[in-house]
Amino acid sequence: MPLATAERALLTERRHLTRDEALAVAQLPLDELPSLIALAHKVRLEWCGPEVELESLINAKSGACPEDCAFCSQSVRYHTGVDVYPFLDVDEILDAARATRAAGATQFCIVVAVRGPEERLLRRVLDAVDLVQRETGLEVACSLGLLTNEQAARLADAGVRRYNHNLETCRAVFPRICSTHTYDDRVQTARRASAAGMELCCGGILGLGETLEQRVDFAFELAALAPGEVPINFLDPRPGTPLADDALLSPREALQAIALFRLVLPSAWLRLAGGRERVLRELQAMGVLAGANALIVGNYLTTAGRAPHEDLALLDALGMPVADGPGEGRFVVDGTGAHARPARASIPIRVD
Ligand code: SF4
Repeated sequence: MPLATAERALLTERRHLTRDEALAVAQLPLDELPSLIALAHKVRLEWCGPEVELESLINAKSGACPEDCAFCSQSVRYHTGVDVYPFLDVDEILDAARATRAAGATQFCIVVAVRGPEERLLRRVLDAVDLVQRETGLEVACSLGLLTNEQAARLADAGVRRYNHNLETCRAVFPRICSTHTYDDRVQTARRASAAGMELCCGGILGLGETLEQRVDFAFELAALAPGEVPINFLDPRPGTPLADDALLSPREALQAIALFRLVLPSAWLRLAGGRERVLRELQAMGVLAGANALIVGNYLTTAGRAPHEDLALLDALGMPVADGPGEGRFVVDGTGAHARPARASIPIRVD
């Protein structure tokens, strides 16, 4: 019954689910997971089409972050052995962008481990954005922590297409995982990025001790910000962090979460990111069939990912084309405040 209600709402009435409707789906036993996955896949095809967007990241300034996010090996407060280096030389960033292009991805995200960008760092990021855009034609995204309105405007003026700033988890759990800034600090930066004209990329990490109900709340808190993209990471406990001994989600819990996020965020790019290899294990393809339509390819910020050719081969086997990037006018805001997406072009999959 909850699945039939959700299907009618999303596919017949073309409306978003209420929290109660989503919660009823979440409370179905995991034995019904195949039906939930099938619905999430239908919703993804109906609202987004078959394309899958690929993005790669560069950790352009690693470690020594003053914040205390409990899952993060880049916090200066934990002894994690992570690489610590200042902002990379622009030539290194350009080399990584070229490799991204060669691997078939269309998005390149410059990430730095800071609370927020100081002026000198911001100027260097803006130089790198300009160079990568001119030399590779890639869409450039940035993830630089908390922003002021003025910083957001400068990034938007420089042509940064998307700004990533995750809420990380739901409002109720956030104080347990971070004490150096607040949930509302994060919400404010997400809103500033959107207001400046950048597309918002805003998601988080599943498996931070949230209940199933809180996971649903998290999806709705994200939906309230109307993000164009929602990265879903899974906790991959890092040695030396306070969460080092936490358990991984099971593959079935992860697939359930992906499908639930698709039902609550029907038109978003739902991007599987860090932790997917460890958590989904041999079910990587199921993640894409459970409603995800975007992947991080290559390595993550501090952990190794799959080789890009493995994901390209996976998409080839699934018959899913690689999206050619967001492009101008790709996202429009419909009357409900949600993002609706016009039809997109795609590029052929390259399997090297
Ligand atoms: S998640 Fe970001 S803000 Fe938090 S400690 Fe890690 S790098 Fe710093």
